[in-house]
Amino acid sequence: MARLMTTDQGLGLVDADGDNLTLLTLGVRDLGEAFERGLTAQDIAAAPTRERLSMSQVRVLPPVVRPSKIWALGLAYASHVGEMGRQQDAEPFFFLKAPSSLLGAGQPIVLPRVAPDHVDYEGEVALVIGRPASHIAPEQAWSHVAGVTILNDVSARDIQGGQHVAGARPNTSMAKSFDTFTPCGPCLATLDEFASPDDIELTTFVNGEQRQHSRTSTLIWPVAELLSFLSARTTLEPGDIVSTGTPAGVGHAEGRYLKPGDWITIRVTGVGELTNPVTEAIGSRR
Ligand code: MG
Repeated sequence: MARLMTTDQGLGLVDADGDNLTLLTLGVRDLGEAFERGLTAQDIAAAPTRERLSMSQVRVLPPVVRPSKIWALGLAYASHVGEMGRQQDAEPFFFLKAPSSLLGAGQPIVLPRVAPDHVDYEGEVALVIGRPASHIAPEQAWSHVAGVTILNDVSARDIQGGQHVAGARPNTSMAKSFDTFTPCGPCLATLDEFASPDDIELTTFVNGEQRQHSRTSTLIWPVAELLSFLSARTTLEPGDIVSTGTPAGVGHAEGRYLKPGDWITIRVTGVGELTNPVTEAIGSRR
């Protein structure tokens, strides 16, 4: 039905070719605010239109600029559990990423000064919540989802594992919450953009080399179960982001971490491509 985009010039509808967008007349700063006001993706897509612009004429922002929370799933695919040398968990392992770490498509991921050497990508399919969900059954779960986007769960592996300083503890949320560590977008695709929302294809490239390829049909827990699980613990609010985890092929498995000048593209069929370059922090001494 639609691919919706948040830009510095307002909300837009992305054309089929992905090269242009048509701005919408809606007085909201992002899709999250539209969902908070009770609008559905269908309502937004049907809003009066303004001018049509090429993508180069706008700055693309994350679909939701400042959600109340970003839940992300660890060890979601059996293929990734194996490459990390871990055992499959008894229940989903969700952690929070700071909303302040969100980054728009095309903007640079900055290697943190305090942990620049073990930064890694994780290509993920992410969901944006459209209406509140508390204690929902799996059968209801998809009706609370406004659409699908792409998320890069960037991770400082040394902080994540507690290896950056002798005696430090592992810290997943800290490792994944540095500024710029959550590229998200470029748009939000409504569920009818997919032949099956439970079988979405994901491919990750680093400098054009394919590193990850999987489908959400191979998730250990289906999306509906994941949302039901989360909703029994916190109320999922309009605009909240739930990222479904990464498949095999992260850099950590081979000790290939991100360097300044690298660029990462995550392609999700039905959504598009999320590309971000990598840069070092200004003033870094390496
Ligand atoms: Mg992840």
